[in-house]
Amino acid sequence: MAAMAAGQSADASQNDPDVQPIFGAIEQQRAHEHVAEQIRRQIGLGIIAPGDALPPERELARLFGVGRVTIQLAIGMLEADQLITTRRGRSGGSFVLAPAEQHGTLDFRVLEVAQSADLIREAIDFREVIEPAAAHAAARSRTKRELAAISSAAERMAAASTDAEFMREDTAFHLAIARATGNRFLVEAIEQARLHLNSVLALLPDSQAWHEMSVSEHEAILDALARRDPDTAHDLMYEHVKGTARSVRALLKSLDAKAAQARKRAQ
Ligand SMILES: [Zn+2]
Repeated sequence: MAAMAAGQSADASQNDPDVQPIFGAIEQQRAHEHVAEQIRRQIGLGIIAPGDALPPERELARLFGVGRVTIQLAIGMLEADQLITTRRGRSGGSFVLAPAEQHGTLDFRVLEVAQSADLIREAIDFREVIEPAAAHAAARSRTKRELAAISSAAERMAAASTDAEFMREDTAFHLAIARATGNRFLVEAIEQARLHLNSVLALLPDSQAWHEMSVSEHEAILDALARRDPDTAHDLMYEHVKGTARSVRALLKSLDAKAAQARKRAQ
């Protein structure tokens, strides 16, 4: 009986072109590539900020549960990508480079963003769906401790004195809300969307007014989370990400022209 059912479904999938299995080539990653990828993600999210040192080799080996040679290979990859630089000596270590140092020029970043404009548009659409949903879930499930983490990210953002610091704390706020949902898929989704947006967010013109608005929006969201009010948290988060989305879309439009100029200069 079961065998027949299995046979039938196999036949059905052969007959119907819409239900063909989709197989993709496997990309084999070695341990050091996994390590490099995880560090790259933390840098991309701004969690390890420019100028910050990576933990020492020995500590990284312990954290990742791999040998020191694997860590050295991973560090070598990140150096080759110009994401970090390693200094020898007593105050030595591996340090995260600032984006300008990472890629040489602003032109490079303009080009990079312009080339991935479609991806960025999809990421902002995705974010409009996922962030309000996460805020809604977090309002119901957050613990006292998780609320404290969200609150301290909001405070650090309000006190930020540089754009990079501001962006890092903004990321921290949104990731803390994601974690407060207790759902790893939401955490992963919000991290992913953010990773694709950080390059473009860094190009947005920062102003005092923009910062103040973001800070007060974060405070209102925090307040709804504290009151365990899912609907308000959802709506406030929607308005918050909508505002960023609007600016990003406008920026992408204007970047098309800038990218053409940058391409000319690069020739
Ligand atoms: Zn925000």
